[in-house]
Amino acid sequence: MTESIDRVLVVTAHPDDSEFGAGGTVARLTKEGREVTYVIVTNGNKGSSDRAMTPERLAAIRAEEQRAAARVLGVAHVEFLGYPDCEVEDTRALRLDVARQIRRWKPDLVICQSPNRTYNLGASHRDHRAVGGVVLDCVYPLARDHLAFPELLPEHEPHKTREVYVMQWETPQLVADISDVMDLKLKALACHASQFKDFGQVEKRVRERSAELGQAKGFAYAEAFDRIVLNR
Ligand SMILES: [Zn+2]
Repeated sequence: MTESIDRVLVVTAHPDDSEFGAGGTVARLTKEGREVTYVIVTNGNKGSSDRAMTPERLAAIRAEEQRAAARVLGVAHVEFLGYPDCEVEDTRALRLDVARQIRRWKPDLVICQSPNRTYNLGASHRDHRAVGGVVLDCVYPLARDHLAFPELLPEHEPHKTREVYVMQWETPQLVADISDVMDLKLKALACHASQFKDFGQVEKRVRERSAELGQAKGFAYAEAFDRIVLNR
C-alpha cells in the first residue's frame, strides 16, 4: 500500500458490492487512518425475491443496510446516486455524476469494479461492468481535464487520482491480506440482511473464497485487485 494515500473513494453499482469485493481492504484502510467515502450508483431496488416487496421500500431498506455496513467498516461518507438497479448504462449523465464525485472527494486511491465480462455471472453483473468502465473513464480523463464537463466548474475543480484498485479474482495483480479484519468484513456483509436467506451459507462461501485468494501468498484470507498507478 502506498504511504501517500490519505483519501479513498469506493465506487460500486449496488449496496453490498463494496463489502463483498473490498470490505476487508476498506476496514484496513480506515484502521490505518485513511478517509474512505462510498459512492453507490444504484438504489438496489430490484434485489428481492419477496413478491410483496415494492421497489421504493426495498431502496430505503438497502440504503439503511449500506449505511450500517459502512459504519462497521469506519467509512466516513456514503453517497447514493439513485440510478435504477439493473438499468445502468454508460451515459454522459452517469459520467458527469461520477466525475463530480471524484472531483468533490479528491481521492488518492479509487476502488472500483471490473469493466470486464467473466463467466462469474454474479461478479460481472451488467451494472458492475457499466459502473467499472465509467469509473475508469472518469479517473482518466474526465475528472482530470478542466475542459471535460465545464459545467462542473468552478465548484468542482479537476482532480488527479494516483492509484486505482479494480476488483478482480481471476488473475489479480494485487492480493491484499485481510486476515485480521475478516470478522469486520463479515459483520459488515451481515448488515445487508435483505439480501440473504441464510447468512451462514454466505459466510461459508466468503471464507472459502477469501482463503483461496490468500493461498498463494500465505494469507489466511485475502481480497484481490488489479492495481493501476497514475501520475508516477
Ligand atoms: Zn452488485
